[in-house]
This record gives sequence, C-alpha cells and structure tokens, in this order.
Amino acid sequence: MKAAGLADIDEKLRAEERLTLDDGVALFNAPDLLAVGWLANREREKRHGARTYFNYNLRLEPTNVCVASCLFCSFARLQPSDAAAYTMSLEQAWDKLRKRASQPLTELHIVNGLNPDLPFDYYKDLLRGFKRIRPEIHLKCFTAVEIAFFADLYKMTDEQVLRELIDAGLDSLPGGGAEIFAERVRRKICHDKCDADRYLSIHRIAHRLGLRTNVTMLYGHIETMEERVDHMMRARALQDETGGFQAFIPLAFHPDNNQMRKLPAPSAADTLRVHAVARLMCDNIPHIKAFWIATGVDVAQTALWFGVDDLDGTVQEEKIYHMAGSPTPEGMTTAQLSRLVRAAGREPLERDTLYNIVNVHAATC
Ligand code: SF4
Repeated sequence: MKAAGLADIDEKLRAEERLTLDDGVALFNAPDLLAVGWLANREREKRHGARTYFNYNLRLEPTNVCVASCLFCSFARLQPSDAAAYTMSLEQAWDKLRKRASQPLTELHIVNGLNPDLPFDYYKDLLRGFKRIRPEIHLKCFTAVEIAFFADLYKMTDEQVLRELIDAGLDSLPGGGAEIFAERVRRKICHDKCDADRYLSIHRIAHRLGLRTNVTMLYGHIETMEERVDHMMRARALQDETGGFQAFIPLAFHPDNNQMRKLPAPSAADTLRVHAVARLMCDNIPHIKAFWIATGVDVAQTALWFGVDDLDGTVQEEKIYHMAGSPTPEGMTTAQLSRLVRAAGREPLERDTLYNIVNVHAATC
C-alpha cells in the first residue's frame, strides 16, 4: 500500500473512517489498479465473505417512445411513427410473463422511455395485470426519471405518483436515470431529464413510503474523476439519511448508435476500478452490483475480486444496452450465473429482490 501511495487510505479503512472526495480521486488516479482492487475486496469480504448474489429476473421495456434526447441513449425513439418505435399493448406485455409460467422468476424489472401519449392508467393496469398473473412476483419498476415525468405529465406530485403505483402493485424502484449527478454533465448529456436533486428526492420519498431502491452511475463518457466521486458521495449522503438503497450499480457507457458514438467505451481496467472505488466510497450501501450486460460477462466475473458482490440476474430480454452495441447475451440461466461465480472462486447464492436467499446453488450447477 505504501508503494502504491495508498497507505493513508488503507489506514483510514482499517480504522473504519469515512473516505473523502480527495481520497476517492486518489483511488481513481492511483496507478496500481490491483492495490485499489485489494482494498475494495477487503471491504467486500468484510461485508459478504465470498457470497455472491444474483436473481431470477426478467427485464421488460414496454415502450421506447421518449420525449427526452439523452446523448448516450440508443434505445429511445422520439416519434411513435419511427420504424423502430414500439409500445406494447397491455396484453403483449402480460404475455411476456404468461409465457414464462414455468420459470421460477422472482422479479420483473421494468423501465421505459418517457412516452407522452400513454395515460397513467396504462402503467397502473400494467402492474395490476402482472400481479394477477403472478401475485408473488416482485415488481421493480420505473426509474425516478419516469416518476418525475409521470408527475409532470399527469399533474400530480411525485409522492402521489408513487402512492398510486404502490397501490397498483409497485414493490421497489430500480436505480436508472441517475447518470452523473453533476449539473455540468447533466446539462450536456441529458438536459431534459429531471435533475439530481429531484432524482434523490424521489428516492427519499420512496424510502419513506417503505420501498427499497437502487442507485446507478453512468461512467466512461465526459465526466471527471471528481464528478464520479461526488456522485458516489451524494448517494452515500442520502443513504445516511434513509438507509433505503440496496445496491450501487455503475453502468458503463456504450457508444454504438447514439450521439456520443465518437467516444470510446470504457476499458475493462476502468470498469474494474469504478466498481472498486464505489465499494470503498459507498461504505453504507450494502451491495455493489456489476450489471454483466453492461460490463461484459468476463469483466463482471473478475469484478467479484474488485468489490462486487452482486451480478444482477438472468435478465432474459434486454434492449437498452443491446441497441447500444452490447455484445453480451440477452440473458443467462441461473446455472450459467452460478458456474461463472464458482469459477471465480466465489459462492453463488440466488436471492430475491430484497436479498432473501431463495436457492443455494450446489457445486454441480
Ligand atoms: S435514457 Fe431514458 S429518458 Fe433518456 S432518451 Fe433514453 S429512454 Fe429517454
């Protein structure tokens, strides 16, 4: 640690002292990636030992029609008449779940474009229908950006929107839409999205209403190291207040088919470092997740030694990253996830959304 210039940070972590903005930036600038990873792994093992979580989930994006124009987005279509625009009917969306009646799914993860033409009832009926088909399934749906959009479009408060969705079956919020909290970057890459304060306020309200949520960070585009650390510290500050975040999820920027295609995608080394620094900075958020669709399977597996203890899940139908050029499969089986965790020398545990263990995968999986 001394040779890596990280002795002071090592000392602080041993003393369970909180890291500062300068510490976070030093971790990003330290040449010795393995030293940063070693520190993150120690924190990971303190909390979780070798345990590594994933779930049996299904992603759905019922509409990609969106009024926003985020520069990094390859998924949205601004006009419903655009050939690649789609909006599922309620029956089409419900069928995605019906046809998986034999799968032991525990979670449905739903995010959408900001579609100006759908009534609020579409989303409430969507949730009610899913609960009718599989009452036991956990509905993790709609980013804080969607909640803000619904509130503005349907002339409600953020809290009213959340309360009505909870009545219809909403169980938790995903962490998408956080991008980078710094105003400078937000103005440039996603100026028509709700700002960081509103994103965090909606998560604060959700936590008060009893929902657990996640928080993401889109990295590898025009953000500085300071802005990455600032983002982590803002998530940490809300967690101090509410304790409602379950996982911090770094999301790699993918450049294909969007307005930022001139930028390179983040390297594997950067991806490993971002996850490691997140583990070290977000000391109060229980889980650091590598979303393997975004990082690539091999990097996600390696990240299990760089602070990561969660690999998301089976996913099955992902469009957002695949429309941005992700070469990963669209889904994995729990047996595949289990094998890759074991091959990394970690212990695979299938969880539900709230981290209750539902299946301990035997070595033969
Ligand atoms: S990231 Fe979300 S809000 Fe932004 S353009 Fe894409 S779908 Fe719309």
